[in-house]
Amino acid sequence: MSRTDFNPETCPRNLILILGDQLGHRAAVFDDFDPDSDALWMAENAREATHVWCHKRRLAFFFAAMRHFREEQLERGRIVHYHALGRRPSDDRGKDFAEILTKDVHRLHPDKLIVTHPGDLRVLRMLENTAKNLAVELEIREDRHFFVTPDAFHDWAEGKKHLVMEHFYRTQRRRTGLLMRKDGEPEGGKWNFDKDNRETFGKEGPGELPSARRFRPDKITRAVVAMVEARFAGHPGSLEDFNLPVTHDEALAAVRDFVSHRLTCFGAYEDAMWSGESTLYHSRLSAVMNVKLLDPKFCLDKVVAAYEEGEAPINSVEGFVRQVLGWREFIRGVYWLHMPKYAERNSLRCGDRNVPSFFWDGETDMACVADCMGGLIRDAWTHHIPRLMVLGQFSLLLGVHPYNFHTWHMAMYVDALDWVSLPNALGMSQHGDGGVVGTKPYCASGNYIDRMSNYCRGCRYNPKRATGEGACPFTTLYWDFLDRHRDRFANSRRMKFQVKNLERKSKDELREIRRRADHIRERIDNGKRL
Ligand code: SF4
Repeated sequence: MSRTDFNPETCPRNLILILGDQLGHRAAVFDDFDPDSDALWMAENAREATHVWCHKRRLAFFFAAMRHFREEQLERGRIVHYHALGRRPSDDRGKDFAEILTKDVHRLHPDKLIVTHPGDLRVLRMLENTAKNLAVELEIREDRHFFVTPDAFHDWAEGKKHLVMEHFYRTQRRRTGLLMRKDGEPEGGKWNFDKDNRETFGKEGPGELPSARRFRPDKITRAVVAMVEARFAGHPGSLEDFNLPVTHDEALAAVRDFVSHRLTCFGAYEDAMWSGESTLYHSRLSAVMNVKLLDPKFCLDKVVAAYEEGEAPINSVEGFVRQVLGWREFIRGVYWLHMPKYAERNSLRCGDRNVPSFFWDGETDMACVADCMGGLIRDAWTHHIPRLMVLGQFSLLLGVHPYNFHTWHMAMYVDALDWVSLPNALGMSQHGDGGVVGTKPYCASGNYIDRMSNYCRGCRYNPKRATGEGACPFTTLYWDFLDRHRDRFANSRRMKFQVKNLERKSKDELREIRRRADHIRERIDNGKRL
């Protein structure tokens, strides 16, 4: 017999579960929402928050965004059953998400649970199991914040021996018409402007940089920051000067700020680094996009409009479109195509080595790592080159287990979620997937960092030296990495050149490189400074 006595406060028809990374107002879960009978359900959960050891700024960002979302929903006249974390664990209603949800389903007796497709397979399975145990229907709706569904990606990937991001990206450009001319050719006459996007700041440096907009914490955010500071005091990172966008309006303001002040130079300098400057010309929109405060389509339309109005060059605009429409969609597709086995991949057969201690506190003499870690501790964010070519690369060359690097990445970066971190961190950065995401490992000697930044000028190490006094740990470990994997890469089209250079080294030099690399690993494994 069907029920008719629904009350969103006490006995809702549908209980809409809003996860911390599903904060979109236009999500499919609202399509048939009836405020007279349906209710929302949200839970800040300590176990979810500490599933990996989390940067304090990351925690504050998620909880502040969730609490603002709740306020916006209340203002729309909707009922929200919300569980906020208190300053002490004894304030909590349950130990974990499943326990809190179970208690509420027993209390509220909803007919159905509805949720947007989670971005983490573990969470999806947990929800399915919880609903099954409670004998309540669970409806999972499509995540509209992506252009491509996991099923559509599966169809695109079917029958392909190798998944090439560039091919996927061009398909998406054609399908969406973004940056496409009427004659079917790409705007600017080329698909790719990467060659224009490798500028450095030279000896003179970047000069005066536009400062990115900062968002002053309101009462809600200040309460969250105080709670995180009290409850998660031992966690890494800093909450000082918390200024991240945590509402939809702030996310839109952040897009406008990027388009008006930084987009023009974004492309040319997207790979450059400079000491003490972490944002440079980057958008820093990934976190608000990944928790769905910002619709990627809206964002892309704004960026493309700037090109059409002659306010931003094609290399910048195409570079941004590539990141959002290409990479972001591609790696999400890879995640759902290959999980759960993907998380176990370890193609370079690394042992169980963990990230160095200075990946938490930045205490190292390596100027590049120290500066990138300084930015990461402060902002819970760095742009893709410090992530990939400094911190990621050091971990790769050292031989950290790729899953350990992913876990660290999840802990420290405000924009990291399972679907985005596994393919990016374990896959592309650590080559753990053996080439699904990137066809070659991202590895280079200290000379690359020297070329793209000013770090080496202020470092006690010398990027040109692999051995001897002042040898750069990146350079030593780079040659050691190639040496350890020379058989694997000797026939790789994209690594052949690097292996050939290795073969020019004398036996004595190689012996010394190996000895020095072992010494570096030993120091790091013993928690010593480098
Ligand atoms: Fe980094 Fe080596 Fe350059 Fe020092 S010399 S900043 S360790 S790349």
